[in-house]
Amino acid sequence: VPDMPDAGQRPGLLGRMLGRSDAPRRVLDDAMLESLEELLIQADMGVETAVRVTANIAEGRFGKRISTPELREALAAEVARIMTPVARPMPLYPTKPQVVLVVGVNGSGKTTTIGKLASQFKAAGKSVVIAAGDTFRAAAVEQLQIWGARAGVPVLTAPEGSDPASLAFDALTKARVDGADLLMIDTAGRLQNRQDLMEELAKIVRVIRKVDPTAPHNTLLVLDATTGQNALLQVEIFRKIADVSGLVMTKLDGTAKGGVLVALADKFGLPIHAIGVGEQIDDLAPFDPEDFARALVG
Ligand code: GDP
Repeated sequence: VPDMPDAGQRPGLLGRMLGRSDAPRRVLDDAMLESLEELLIQADMGVETAVRVTANIAEGRFGKRISTPELREALAAEVARIMTPVARPMPLYPTKPQVVLVVGVNGSGKTTTIGKLASQFKAAGKSVVIAAGDTFRAAAVEQLQIWGARAGVPVLTAPEGSDPASLAFDALTKARVDGADLLMIDTAGRLQNRQDLMEELAKIVRVIRKVDPTAPHNTLLVLDATTGQNALLQVEIFRKIADVSGLVMTKLDGTAKGGVLVALADKFGLPIHAIGVGEQIDDLAPFDPEDFARALVG
């Protein structure tokens, strides 16, 4: 396995790193497994997952001659096996409105994802309301209003600096009266002040439960796939401060380090509801494990 330093910069590169398809078959020995493990780590799978994947590939193949296409095939199958259980669309419930709390650090793509999701739900015949819960960032509220207009969905706002929980309460009450199917609540993403954020999210949940004890029905964590291993850390942090029920992975177009999705699936098993594949309103796709494995392995 050739040693190339820029592994994992974009999907498919892992495949290219595995080498030429017409290279002679090689014996799958310890050295080859070690290089493979190194490649997987460079491709952002993380050490634990890379070790496990390599061990699984070795099983039944160790000491035998293997061609590059066979190795690639084995790797794709292993990745697809890990990813299949987490490939699940966001569950929809009959509750009106279904409350979707959207969390994630600033810049992860929360606003964009809310816009894309709102547009998809609307196209599916659902009435959607968005609450601009990041009341401390005027720019975030403005962006959300732009996305709401694009999606044709109302965006409820509150004066800058006002209590997000009170906005969430008002939004849920109004969405209920209006008979909306879905309420999507944006939240702040200032991880610098984790304690603050934790209290803010807890308060939103407490307050909306006064209107509907079963809310929120989904808590989506939006993660930027290009942040690599950092995404793992964000899951750990957000799981402590919110009851994360599913993930949306953004920026899987272009230069995404897709390998981190394998690490996420392997480590947390949280469903991946959708993937962001661009900056336009239609650039949100269901997560397809087979396609993903193929693209990653090349
Ligand atoms: P927020 O701060 O979490 O609300 O993040 P935004 O939704 O404002 O997104 C931050 C930046 O990432 C913007 O420039 C978006 O256009 C971009 N972005 C979001 N999702 C995607 C995606 O799936 N692909 C690409 N290429 N860019 C994205």
